[in-house]
Amino acid sequence: MPYKKVLDTMQPYKPGKPIEETKKEYGLTEVIKLASNENPYGYSPKVAEWLRSEAQLLQLYPDANATTLKETLANKNGIAPEQLIIGNGSDELISIISRSMLDETKHVLMATPTFPQYVHNAKVEGATFTEIPLKDGHHDYEEFLQAIQDNTSIIWICNPNNPTGNVLNSAELEAFIEEVPSDILIVLDEAYFEYIMAEDHVDSLEWLPKYENILILRTFSKAYGLASIRVGYGIGHPSMIEQFNKVRNPFNNNTMAHTIAKIAVEDEEFLQKSRKLNAEQRERFYTFAKEQGLNIYPSETNFVLIETKRDANELADELMKRGVIVRSGNLLGTPGYMRVTIGTEQQNDQFFEAFKQLL
Ligand SMILES: *Cc1c(COP(=O)(O)O)cnc(C)c1O
Repeated sequence: MPYKKVLDTMQPYKPGKPIEETKKEYGLTEVIKLASNENPYGYSPKVAEWLRSEAQLLQLYPDANATTLKETLANKNGIAPEQLIIGNGSDELISIISRSMLDETKHVLMATPTFPQYVHNAKVEGATFTEIPLKDGHHDYEEFLQAIQDNTSIIWICNPNNPTGNVLNSAELEAFIEEVPSDILIVLDEAYFEYIMAEDHVDSLEWLPKYENILILRTFSKAYGLASIRVGYGIGHPSMIEQFNKVRNPFNNNTMAHTIAKIAVEDEEFLQKSRKLNAEQRERFYTFAKEQGLNIYPSETNFVLIETKRDANELADELMKRGVIVRSGNLLGTPGYMRVTIGTEQQNDQFFEAFKQLL
């Protein structure tokens, strides 16, 4: 069959081993998954309540405009509904953006290591790309500016960056945005926005009136604890949103997902609780790293990138035998490190205990 040639060089997404498989393979009764940065505290109890109570009109198509969810998000963020596009997770928005803007004549820019979907979608659309290595763990803006070509269409910025977890300095980032030609789209992927605690962090929503070429991506999959419902959203200039809406499948989210996301936005208490518990538990990882003499990246997310002192795949396998699933840095472009989702107090105890035995 005449598939796109680039597919010969690509692999389907490799999911981590599911909990039930791991239990069976290693004869374990308890396994914790600290590999995908899900929220270990679950989701809003208001969502749970709604799920128990509500009868659904499953025969009807969902609202293709996500009207109620957009109104709720617009009110909460002080923006207009026309500035919003809702995706089947922000993953889908990354592909909608790429599909809208890229082809064989276009070029995109991103850091490395960073979230792999930016490169993945560029490849599918046949675009060329330049990956700019992080410098001391940070985005190297000088190199980004140098790498801009006449046909550069998108610059992808993951902030906080996955897999390193660090947040970009707001003043430096804004100075960079200022330097980028205004006909290049700058996507700010802020999947971990709700976890950021840094006091000098500026909410990028404030930049929207000044820079019409930025698009902010946020998601319900991480701090809201709703990875399974597949809802992410983009915020940008209405004229940009209109273009992306032409490419979006009209019924890309189901009705339940819209309603659940709306209820979640309205439960600020659950979000704040997750944020606080996550920050407390995150401290324990720094303390552990210090005690054990391991490098660790400063994280503003619900995961940490921590040194393994040996081959990361091997360590991840050993941890799995002890009932803890993490992500080896070998797969993420950070060999010698692993990415660990910050769990509950008890889950983290189990991780520290297992890791200690292996050090
Ligand atoms: C998890 C993650 C996403 C994907 O989020 P979904 O909304 O679940 O598709 C996007 N970007 C980054 C950086 C992530 O870590």
